[in-house]
Amino acid sequence: MGEKLSISGHTQTIALIGSPVEHSMSPAMHNASFEKLGLDYAYVVFDVQPENLEAVVKGMKAMGIPGFNVTMPLKTPILPYLDELSDAAKLMGAVNTVVLQDGKLVGHNTDGAGFMRNLKENGVDVIGKKVTISGAGGAGSAIFTQAALDGVKEIDVYNIRDSFYEATERRIAELAAQTGCAVTLHDLADKDDLRASVADSALFINATRVGMPPLENECTLDEDMLHEGLALADTVYNPRTTKLLAMGQAHGNKTVNGLGMLLWQAAIGEKIWTGQEMPVDYIEELFFTE
Ligand code: NAD
Repeated sequence: MGEKLSISGHTQTIALIGSPVEHSMSPAMHNASFEKLGLDYAYVVFDVQPENLEAVVKGMKAMGIPGFNVTMPLKTPILPYLDELSDAAKLMGAVNTVVLQDGKLVGHNTDGAGFMRNLKENGVDVIGKKVTISGAGGAGSAIFTQAALDGVKEIDVYNIRDSFYEATERRIAELAAQTGCAVTLHDLADKDDLRASVADSALFINATRVGMPPLENECTLDEDMLHEGLALADTVYNPRTTKLLAMGQAHGNKTVNGLGMLLWQAAIGEKIWTGQEMPVDYIEELFFTE
């Protein structure tokens, strides 16, 4: 590690707000990166409840905090308190990164961008191609929205018919109209439909909780849906190799785990705040070596 930085009158604060926040990996990742890069920043967390959000955001702006992360349950409730939104954040209706720019609070969402960047780092190119994704929650929405913005041609989104299904369908129709990407919502229970979708897709993404404990022995794709030329990506990073990825590896399919999404969403946020490139390999080695 580089020289240990100490807090001084020049130190700039970056924060994470949400609840709960105490188990987040973000402070460890960003503080190690700031130290390595010799940046005089400190990353701290605040447990913030929705009823205090407006006051907290106004306080951040009044104090000139250069940037902060936003996590659940505040990613959507924060929207009315920001001055501007990136295209991705606007379409996702959720913000995970805020920067104070020329006195204005600008909201971004780096989750989808982090996922897409990680695909690129792993040599998976889906621009102009078809993608199938299971899961339209926070992570899934961020991914398919960014994928549509980036130029993926067709995206079939599968979700269980939960209470959000109809609202998700409306949001997806709006996304298709705004981006020109052929993105549609389907019922995850319809296995024949899923099989047909995966058959001509270049990538299948799992963005559900399936694959992480207590669902570590489950998978949203059946083994006989795999085909040559299908890459598999998981958003789950604990375990690093989910059942889906293990199945793909056994069949020789290209696989991408969820850790890179976590690292790259942080790196993209750090670039927005500081203009500097987070040393992603160093952070991975420091905290995530198995
Ligand atoms: P969420 O609660 O917003 O969404 C959960 C999704 O899982 C929904 O689409 C829901 O319908 C689906 N789901 C839940 N139980 C299911 C089941 N039994 N079968 C099929 N679908 C089911 O959560 P989220 O924040 O979108 O997280 C989803 C996954 O993404 C989690 O595994 C989380 O760990 C992962 N994630 C990873 C990163 C990263 O940086 N790698 C970031 C955020 C989330």
